[in-house]
Amino acid sequence: MTNREIEHKTECNLSPYNTLRIESIADDVYFPSTLNEFTLLLANLDNPLVIGGGSNILLSSKGIKRPVIVVKHLNKVDIEPPVFVVEAGVPVSKISEMALELKLHGFEFLTALPASLGGAVCMNAGANGQAISDYFVSAEVYDSAEDTIKTFTKEDMNFSYRNSKLKNQERYFLLSAKFELIKADSYESIKNLMDENINKRKDIQPTLKDPNIGCVFKNPLDSNKSAGQLLDECNLKSCPIGGAMVYYKHANFIINFNKATSLDYLKLMREMQKRVIEKFNIKLSPEIVYIGDDKEETELWKNLTRV
Ligand SMILES: Cc1cc2nc3c(=O)[nH]c(=O)nc-3n(C[C@H](O)[C@H](O)[C@H](O)COP(=O)(O)OP(=O)(O)OC[C@H]3O[C@@H](n4cnc5c(N)ncnc54)[C@H](O)[C@@H]3O)c2cc1C
Repeated sequence: MTNREIEHKTECNLSPYNTLRIESIADDVYFPSTLNEFTLLLANLDNPLVIGGGSNILLSSKGIKRPVIVVKHLNKVDIEPPVFVVEAGVPVSKISEMALELKLHGFEFLTALPASLGGAVCMNAGANGQAISDYFVSAEVYDSAEDTIKTFTKEDMNFSYRNSKLKNQERYFLLSAKFELIKADSYESIKNLMDENINKRKDIQPTLKDPNIGCVFKNPLDSNKSAGQLLDECNLKSCPIGGAMVYYKHANFIINFNKATSLDYLKLMREMQKRVIEKFNIKLSPEIVYIGDDKEETELWKNLTRV
C-alpha cells in the first residue's frame, strides 16, 4: 500500500481497544501513525471500522470481519489560543488539561471521558450541560464515496443530542477537528468545573475497573425522567445475564463482570428496554453502537433500535 509499512496485525484480539473488554477477534487491524497513512487506509480498505477510545462500542464476540483501523497514534494537537486543531486519535482528557493550562473554557466535561476526539465528535459527546458541538468550528473529513477530503462546518455536521452526521454511517471519517474556545475568568473557574464533573460521577458511575461503555440508553426526550431513573424504578440494578450485569449503583450502565459476550450484553439491553416499555410505555433508544454481523445479535439490535 505504501513504501513504508503501516503497522498491521492479523487475528487480533480487540479486547485492549474497547473499554468493555469484550474478546473479539478481528481479521485485520491497522494502526496508522499519520493522517496520510489514515487516509491511505480509508481509500484502500473495503468498509473499514474506525475505533477511537472504544468507549461506546459493543463489538461482537463472534469476531469482526471488516478491516479495523485503530487511530490511537493520531494524536497531534495544534494550538493558537483560543483555537485548537485536534487529530482524531487524541484522548479528549488531554485537550481538557491543555485548555485548563491556557485558561480556556469549553472542554471541562471532557476530563472524565475515556474517548478519542473522533469518537467524541461522532457521538456528539456531552455532560453537565456541555457538548463537543458547543465550540466546534469545522472538521476535516474523508469522504469515501468521492475519495476526497472535505471540510465540514458545524452546520454540515447536523449535531443533535448524542448524534451527528458521522454516527452510524460508513461514508465519512473524521481526520481532525477545529474548535474555538472561550477565555475564562480564571484557572480556578475551569478547574472547579472539571472537578465537579469528576466528583459527580465518583459515587454513582462505574470506573473502567468495572469494564463498561458508558450509558447504555439515551435519555428520552419525551419524559422528565432520565433513562437511569426509569430503569432504576424497574428494579433493574444488579440484574445479570451471563457475564453482563446492570451496575448496582446506576441502572443505565452495564458492566462486564465475568467474561461477558456481546450476546449477554444485547439480551440484557433488550430486557431493560422491555421492562421500561411495560412500566412506562416508553421505548428507550440505545446510546451505544453495536458492531458485528452475527445473525442473532443483529436481530436483537434491530429490535432494540426499531423506532
Ligand atoms: C465510564 C464512561 C463514562 C462515559 N461518560 C460519557 C459522558 O458523560 N458523556 C458522553 O457523551 N459519553 C460518555 N461515555 C461514552 C463515550 O465515552 C463517548 O460516546 C465517546 O464520545 C466515544 O468516543 P470513543 O473515541 O471511545 O469512540 P469509539 O467507541 O471508539 O467509537 C464510537 C463510534 O464512533 C466512530 N468513530 C470513532 N472515531 C471515528 C472517526 N475518526 N471517524 C468516524 N467515526 C469514528 C466509531 O466507528 C463508532 O461508531 C462514557 C463512557 C464510559 C466508558
